Amino acid sequence: MDLAAIGTDVERVIVSEIDLQKRIKDLAAQVTSDYKDRDLLLVGVLKGAIMAMADLSRNMQRHVDMDWMAVSSYGSGTKSSGVVRILKDLDRDITGREVLIVEDIVDTGLTLSWLKSNLESRGAKSVEILSILRKPTAAKVEVSVKYVGFDIPPDFVVGYGLDFNEKYRNLPFIGVLAKHMYS
Ligand code: IMP
Ligand code: MG
Repeated sequence: MDLAAIGTDVERVIVSEIDLQKRIKDLAAQVTSDYKDRDLLLVGVLKGAIMAMADLSRNMQRHVDMDWMAVSSYGSGTKSSGVVRILKDLDRDITGREVLIVEDIVDTGLTLSWLKSNLESRGAKSVEILSILRKPTAAKVEVSVKYVGFDIPPDFVVGYGLDFNEKYRNLPFIGVLAKHMYS
């Protein structure tokens, strides 16, 4: 779906499709080189990471395994509390595996920090994180994100996997949701 098809729902585009694809290619090359002669299991966090996983993996010049997890973070109202529930677990055991978590966005970082220690506790050989986007709030939490696509302002964004009420995931760019959409 393109910008013209959604009218005024998106206030402005902050990462264009071209910039996104260019950065994904760079990240894929970097991961390919960092994991040279190593095992690599990509773990995508549903549903936001679907686009990132699809584009990233197709730009990697090597074999990769893919698995998926779905988690939901609980908190009071709109605040993430760091208490996470697994809605869909990995299909396979990850003992001894080199895991790269693929995420859409790091906001508070609470979800990722929980997920990283959860996967480490299962005996993975290594657990690193790749996130397409990072908000300034991420700086407050002790979670090291090894690969970041873009640092963005603290606005609510949609597109490229990111949703608002399950919509807008199929936009090929990242845009700021217009204020009139949630008031
Ligand atoms: P946190 O890092 O634990 O706060 O949670 C991050 C999750 O919140 C992401 O995986 C998204 O699902 C969601 N999220 C955070 N910021 C946004 C946004 O701007 N748009 C859409 N979803 C967001
Ligand atoms: Mg997510």
